[in-house]
Amino acid sequence: MLIDTHVNLHSERFDEDRDDVIEHARAAGVGAMIAICARFSEFDAVKAVSEPHPDIWRTIGAHPHHAKDKPDVTADEIAKIADDPRVVAIGETGLDNHYGYSPMEAQEASFRAHIGAARLTGLPLIVHTREADERTAEILEEETDKGAFPILLHCYTGGRELARRGAALGAFFSVNGIMTFKNASDVRDVIVEEMPEDRIILETDAPYLAPVPHRGRRNEPAFLVHVRDKLAELKGWSAEETQARTAQASARLFEKIGAAVAAS
Ligand SMILES: [Zn+2]
Repeated sequence: MLIDTHVNLHSERFDEDRDDVIEHARAAGVGAMIAICARFSEFDAVKAVSEPHPDIWRTIGAHPHHAKDKPDVTADEIAKIADDPRVVAIGETGLDNHYGYSPMEAQEASFRAHIGAARLTGLPLIVHTREADERTAEILEEETDKGAFPILLHCYTGGRELARRGAALGAFFSVNGIMTFKNASDVRDVIVEEMPEDRIILETDAPYLAPVPHRGRRNEPAFLVHVRDKLAELKGWSAEETQARTAQASARLFEKIGAAVAAS
């Protein structure tokens, strides 16, 4: 089965045809999807999208862009919302120096609260990092010293050094349509040379980052097949093998999904 570990299904860009988009994904072989919460105020919308569908799971978190909405959020507050049988991860959270929509102090405070919630709940932490490799690595290492928590470096476009330091902490990595873009040879090199083969998983980040041959259009979870095929090409794996490897890794990282798949 294919598992899309990062979809923004509550996006208004799916308001006209959300049910069709979900059906297309299933028809393309996507057996599970994770609907991502990127600001606390939208958790109810994410929940509403996932609740009717047993194959759509959800997260709780605030993207670094939105850290300023609630920079003083606590680990306990996040963990309380995460106490929900369909919440499979904490995040997305992290650091983003590219846009700087939230001040860095707010981003770091929010990031550390999310880490605390991952530790309290045992759920994996979905980390977004952009132009913040060094600080992301430092915080993850410092916090792991205080008590380990499962890490996913999502939409990985960072450098080799963060990939190595993340891998040493046991982190998983998610890859998406970016690796199909012509100018992304650095991203492809890191995928092939630095990511532990049993810790690579797939995502679309729909509606953003549509893979070639849909680049520039609205992305959908059904397009995950193109992400799978590109990873297969880069690693020299068959499509079936790529699907099996990434599904196994996803089931290990997101234990609730693993248990549901094993029981089905
Ligand atoms: Zn992200």
